[in-house]
Amino acid sequence: MQPLKYLAGYPPHLQDQVRALIARDRLGAMLSDKYPEPHAVRNDGQLYDYVQALKNRYLRKAVPLGKVLYDGKLQVVKQALGTHTAVSRVHGGRLKASREIRIASVFRDAPAEFLKMIVVHELAHLKEAEHNKAFYQLCTHMAPDYHQLEFDLRLYLTQRELEAG
Ligand SMILES: [Zn+2]
Repeated sequence: MQPLKYLAGYPPHLQDQVRALIARDRLGAMLSDKYPEPHAVRNDGQLYDYVQALKNRYLRKAVPLGKVLYDGKLQVVKQALGTHTAVSRVHGGRLKASREIRIASVFRDAPAEFLKMIVVHELAHLKEAEHNKAFYQLCTHMAPDYHQLEFDLRLYLTQRELEAG
């Protein structure tokens, strides 16, 4: 059975559905139908403004932002999303300490919804270091469909790797 590293924390029946989509060569089309909109956040300056605008709207009282940048070396799952297992706490602690928000550069060309999702995730870390219940409540406060978006982002990353061969 094909391992799905981006979806390792999700229930087996969901992973099986994804394998079926891949087997029928439908995953890419499903994602581009569902998320057709690109975004115009091209550089670090625009990214800062984008993150600040979301922060002003939802987390005005959280600590001020430090640097905000696209990072070509960041590994999305290991260093940004966490693995949906208990091992992920180090990552959040690091971010909380620095107030710096690094967004993996894969998001520069990803659909608009996925950029929003990852920014929401990183903003929530300004208040909650760990991926705990309070953390995900913050995420869904900023993006009500956060959990679906995170799942679909993981599908997007899976598809991207398949296409890269
Ligand atoms: Zn995180």
